[in-house]
Amino acid sequence: MKFAEHIEIAKGQIRQQMLIDGKWQAAASGQTSAVHDPARGEVIAQVPLAGEEDIDRAVKAARRAFDERAWRDMLPAVRERLLLKFADLVEADAERLAHLETLNQGKPLPLALGAEVAGSVQWLRYMAGWATKIEGHTVDLSFPLPPGTRYRAMVQRVPVGVVGAIVPWNFPMMMAVWKIAPALATGCTVVLKPAEETPLTAIRLAELALEAGIPAGVFNVVTGNGATGAALVAHAGVDKITFTGSTVTGKAIAQRCAVDVRRAALELGGKSPVIVLDDCDTERAVMGATQGFLLNSGQVCTAGSRLYVPKKRFDEVVAGVADVAGKATLGSGFDPDAQIGPLVSARHKERVMRLIESGEREGAKLLTPIRPDESSGYFVAPAVFANTSGQPMTLVREEVFGPVIIAMPYDDLYDVIRQANDSVYGLGASVWTNDFTRALRLADRIDAGTVWINAHNVIDPAMPFGGMKQSGIGREHGRAAIDGYTETKSVCLSF
Ligand code: NAD
Repeated sequence: MKFAEHIEIAKGQIRQQMLIDGKWQAAASGQTSAVHDPARGEVIAQVPLAGEEDIDRAVKAARRAFDERAWRDMLPAVRERLLLKFADLVEADAERLAHLETLNQGKPLPLALGAEVAGSVQWLRYMAGWATKIEGHTVDLSFPLPPGTRYRAMVQRVPVGVVGAIVPWNFPMMMAVWKIAPALATGCTVVLKPAEETPLTAIRLAELALEAGIPAGVFNVVTGNGATGAALVAHAGVDKITFTGSTVTGKAIAQRCAVDVRRAALELGGKSPVIVLDDCDTERAVMGATQGFLLNSGQVCTAGSRLYVPKKRFDEVVAGVADVAGKATLGSGFDPDAQIGPLVSARHKERVMRLIESGEREGAKLLTPIRPDESSGYFVAPAVFANTSGQPMTLVREEVFGPVIIAMPYDDLYDVIRQANDSVYGLGASVWTNDFTRALRLADRIDAGTVWINAHNVIDPAMPFGGMKQSGIGREHGRAAIDGYTETKSVCLSF
């Protein structure tokens, strides 16, 4: 298929409105915000720039849908069937959704199809199954009065209420589904605020949910920027905020939520270590490390962006990573030969370039060729750095969210544990070895919500996911997600 045909398919899916209470709407102010194709730098849509008034309408719609109880009191098996229907519609629309995502976010089409759309279907189906499996327990109490009276509590799990979901631009559709699917399965209602850079698949998701029969007001999408997100966080009608994005924004959200004791789950940044042990064969270490930091042009919260290699294997492994990454082809997500797509926005490209410059300025050695971007898109070539001085550096500390890795040598396991844990983040980590005894010892000692052994970036709806330290609060996926969108209610009987 030619570029023009791909773009035609993608553009055919664009809708430039938001969905509030089952109705397609513009912003009350009439303001819009431009959406770009990051591979060509062109404006492809103008979506509503929602303000406080729009947020108020959306939250009130979600509040009404929750308080009228039709969704939460629906037979669990019926709610499950509606979510399965939603999943079927997403699956039937897979090609078009993937085209839309690639056009708007930039990622290679196979990644949009295989990870984002297929992942969204998988998550919707997995979470649909939970709708019929939410259960509490009973407990016999020891309260002694009046003598002879016994007490038994039924501990139920009830939906937390109206959920404000704020998502980023790296996996726009999947991040939205990670929140929508468990929230809807538990009987909550949702206002979703996609990132200003990537609102298009979220809008299409809302259209499909409506078509699946999910009632008006249960799932609303409001497009806008950080101020729109802040209005959602501050709205008194919201019971819980669930957020994925930067640690800076996450801290602001946590502070605002504290004012009203609003529940908040935060999935924030990372600076995930990739630890190669001395027995690991070179090719496996090189491929593992390269894929761990290049997936989605490095715009992954668990990107393996710090590489630790034993001193005696350092030059060989790091040169291998630089060689593979240095040859990776850049191009539009619709180009079948392109391995790496553009970054999401001009602003983000500038930030990543500034961080790459900091590496050179602070004395790290750049091992990959500089490939200036002469296109009108937002491309950045992979950068592999070595820091053999042990000096503190911005690139070792800060999340880049781009195709950048910094490699450091280590002496022994104690040294690598110390270096790996020397971070404010604790999201992911990987260990590469054939020696499972040492791998498990390391896994025990590394501060991360997920530690992979001989893998990186493997995420599944059944496996809890989230961060330690400043990488966040709360867990997504599995039973943990269901617990996150419900709270216990104790009903105490005397007899
Ligand atoms: P961000 O965290 O500011 O934005 C993420 C989402 O939050 C967007 O929907 C945005 O509109 C919204 N938002 C922004 N300010 C808000 C506020 N005050 N209240 C409520 N919502 C608000 O991320 P960004 O500025 O787009 O990216 C900056 C950096 O964040 C990136 O370079 C990267 O390092 C990191 N990031 C991390 C993730 C992740 O998955 N952990 C995702 C995106 C970005």
